[in-house]
Amino acid sequence: HKYSAEDIKKLVVDENVEFLCLMFTDINGIIKNVEVPVSQIDKVLANKITFDGSSIDGFTRIEESDMLLHPDLSTWLIFPWGSEHGKVARLICDIYTTDGEPFAGDPRVNLQRIIKKMKGMGYTNFNIGPEPEFFLFNTDEKGNPTLHLNDDGSYFDFSPVDLGENCRRDIVLELEKMGFEVEASHHEVAPGQQEIDFKYEDALSAADSIQMFKLVVKTIAKQHGLYATFMPKPLQGINGSGMHINMSLFNGDTNIFDDKDDKLSPVAKQFMSGILKHARALTAVNNPTINSYKRLVPGFEAPTYIAWSGKNRSPLIRVPAAKGKSKRVEMRSVDPTTNPYLAIAAILDAGLDGVKNGYELAPEVKENIYEMTEEERAEEGIVDLPSTLHNSLKALRKDEYVQNSLGKGLTNSFFAAKNAEWAQYQQTVSQWERDTYMPLY
Ligand code: ADP
Ligand code: MG
Ligand code: MG
Ligand code: MG
Ligand code: MG
Repeated sequence: HKYSAEDIKKLVVDENVEFLCLMFTDINGIIKNVEVPVSQIDKVLANKITFDGSSIDGFTRIEESDMLLHPDLSTWLIFPWGSEHGKVARLICDIYTTDGEPFAGDPRVNLQRIIKKMKGMGYTNFNIGPEPEFFLFNTDEKGNPTLHLNDDGSYFDFSPVDLGENCRRDIVLELEKMGFEVEASHHEVAPGQQEIDFKYEDALSAADSIQMFKLVVKTIAKQHGLYATFMPKPLQGINGSGMHINMSLFNGDTNIFDDKDDKLSPVAKQFMSGILKHARALTAVNNPTINSYKRLVPGFEAPTYIAWSGKNRSPLIRVPAAKGKSKRVEMRSVDPTTNPYLAIAAILDAGLDGVKNGYELAPEVKENIYEMTEEERAEEGIVDLPSTLHNSLKALRKDEYVQNSLGKGLTNSFFAAKNAEWAQYQQTVSQWERDTYMPLY
C-alpha cells in the first residue's frame, strides 16, 4: 500500500495505536526494533528518530554512532496480536547517517542499490518466492526449547492429534491477517518440520516478508507452548531446514524468464549462468552459519554441487516445469539463517552479471549427481559447493564481484563477524571427537 504521512497519522488515531515498532535488520539477519509511543509520531514521520548504531552488529564505529531511522511508509502494519497496552504498529525503516545519506551498511539500503541497478538494465521487478522451513520443538516447564519433537508426522501427513498441525494453522491465519498470501503449508519430510509458502513478491517486499514471517512463526509457536527454530540442521540424521528461493525478472506484467514455448528465455539462462559462476561466493551469504553446512550434505535433499536441472532436485538450481507468469528458477541451497536482504541482493547482482556479460549456460545435468563418480562429475565440469563456512568465506574473498554486491562496509563487517564465528567453532572440542579418538589414542 501507498500511505502518506497524513494517512498514517489518521490511522494511528482511528485504530487506537499506542506503540510504534521501528524495525530494521542487522548484518546477521536479526530483526532490531526501536519502540516509541505514538506521542512521537511527528518525529517518526519526519525521519528524526535516532538510535545508537554502535550497539548494532556490523553497523558503525563509536565516533559516528548516531543513525537515523527513515520509515518506509508502505510497510505500515498493525500487529494483529496486540498487547495489553493497546495496539502496536510496525514500520520497516532504512538507516540513514546524520548527514542525511542512506547508510551503505544497512542491508535493506544495499538491496535497494542493487534493485536500482536492475532497473537501469531495463527490468522493473525481481520477484522472489521463498519456501522457508522450520522445526517445532516442545518446551520444558521453564519454556526453554527441548529436543523433543511434538509429532511423528511426515511429508504431507494428516494426523488429527498433531500439536504442530494446529500451530501451523494458527500461523497461517495470523499471516493472512497481516496480508500474506499463503499459497501452501504442509508438514515437511522430517518429523516436527513444517513449510509455509507465500506468494512471490518484489525483492524488497519479499525480504521484508521473510523477516516478518520468522517473527510471526516464533510468536505463534510460543503461544502454543512450542519453540520454532529456523536453525538449518537442529537434528542430525534427518532433513534440515532450507529456504529455497524462487526467482524471476519481470518487466511490468511480463515474465522475462518465460519464453514463447514455455522454455527458459535467453535472459533466464544468462541470469542462471551468473548465479552458477558466483555460486561458491554466494554460499557464504546464503548459508552464513556453521550449522548451515551440516545441512548441505548428500542424502537429505539439500544441494552439494553447482549445477542446474529441470528434472531432479539434487542440483543447486532447479527449473520447475511451470509456465507463463510462474516460469521461475529455484535456488535450493539458501537456508533461513541468511540475511534475506543480503542474499537477495547478492543473488540478483550475480544474475545481472550473467545477463550483462551474456555468459553461456552450462548444459543441464539430467542424472542424479550423487550417483555419478568423481570422474564423471569432473568430466561434466561439476564443481561442489563449499563444505564449510571457512571454505565459503575463502570463496567470497576471491570473488570481488560478490563483495561489491554487498558493498565494502558490509563485506568487511561480514568477514569480521564470520571469521570470529569460525575461529570460535574451530577451537571447540566436541564430544564426537572425544568419543572417537580417546579410545584409540
Ligand atoms: P516447490 O515445488 O519447490 O515445493 P512451492 O510450490 O513450495 O515450490 O513454492 C513455489 C514458490 O514459487 C511460491 O512462493 C510461489 O509464489 C513462487 N513463484 C511462483 N511463480 C514465481 C515467479 N514467477 N517468480 C518467483 N517466484 C514464483
Ligand atoms: Mg515447497
Ligand atoms: Mg511444493
Ligand atoms: Mg520444502
Ligand atoms: Mg522448493
